[in-house]
Amino acid sequence: MQPPDDRLERGRPCEICAAPTRPWHLLGGGALERCPVCRHLRRPLASCPAGHRDLAYGGDPSLDRIRTALTFRSLRPRGVRSVFEIGYGGGSLLRRFHDAGAQIGGVDPGQLDVDVDPVVREHGRLWSGPAEDLPDGWARADLVVGIHVLEHVADPHATLRKAVTMLEPGGRAVFLTPAGDAWGPRTYGSAWWMLEDPTHVRFFSADSLARLAVDAGLTNVRVDRLVLDSLTTDVASLARARGVRRPDGVLADQRVLAAAAASAPAVLALRSLARHTRPTLRLSAARAA
Ligand SMILES: [Zn+2]
Repeated sequence: MQPPDDRLERGRPCEICAAPTRPWHLLGGGALERCPVCRHLRRPLASCPAGHRDLAYGGDPSLDRIRTALTFRSLRPRGVRSVFEIGYGGGSLLRRFHDAGAQIGGVDPGQLDVDVDPVVREHGRLWSGPAEDLPDGWARADLVVGIHVLEHVADPHATLRKAVTMLEPGGRAVFLTPAGDAWGPRTYGSAWWMLEDPTHVRFFSADSLARLAVDAGLTNVRVDRLVLDSLTTDVASLARARGVRRPDGVLADQRVLAAAAASAPAVLALRSLARHTRPTLRLSAARAA
C-alpha cells in the first residue's frame, strides 16, 4: 500500500514547463506544489474549493480607488486608442481609459451579478463568461490588460492565447499577478495574504510568467517587479500570522487597514531597496507587428 501522501510527494507536472513538481511545506502548515525548474507554484487540488469566491477580498472602496489610479498610470495610457481588459470587475480601470478617450472592451467570468460602471456598460464591448469562450479576435485592441487575473483562471495558457487574438499587430499585453518567487510565501508561509483568497490557484515566478508569454507567441517579453502594487500585503500577512482571521478577509478589519496605511511609507522604502520584497510581477509583451 502506498503512503497517503504519495500523490503529493510525486506532484502534478508543472503546468508551465511540465517538470515534476515537489511539495513545498510552508511555515505554519500546508504545502504548495513547486516546480524545481521554473519555480512556478500551484495550490494542491485539495486546497482549492471549486467555484468562484463569494466574497470580495480586500475590497475596501478607497483602497480600490488608489489601486486603480496607480494601475492606470503604470499602463502609460497616453497614446492608447483601444484597450481590452481580461477580468474587468466593476469596470473602474476601463472607465479611466474611456474617460481618456480610448475604445474599451473586456471579458469577465463573474460580472452578471456585480455592478459594473454604467458608462463602461454603455460604451464597452463586454463579454460575461470565461475568456476561453470568447471567439478569437472578438475585439481588437492595441493594449490588452489582465490585472490580478492569471492567478485565478482555469487555464492560463488558454487565457493568454486568447488575449493574443485580441491584440492588434504591434499591440502590447500587460498582466499583473502575485509573485510566488518573492519573499511573501517564504517569509509569511501559510499566513501570506495572497493565500487568503482560495481562488488564487497558482503563483507565477518571473521565469514561469515569461515562459507563458513566449508559449503564447508574444515577443519582447519582459517581467519586472512593481513597488506600487498590493500595498497592504505585508501588514495583512502579519495580521494573519498573529492569528487574525475573518470570513470577509483580514483587510475588513479597520485596525489592520489603519496599520497598512501607517506602514505604507516604510513598506515602499523597503521595496525600493530590496527587489525580492516586491509582491507583484508585471509581464509586458508585444504581438509581432
Ligand atoms: Zn515549471
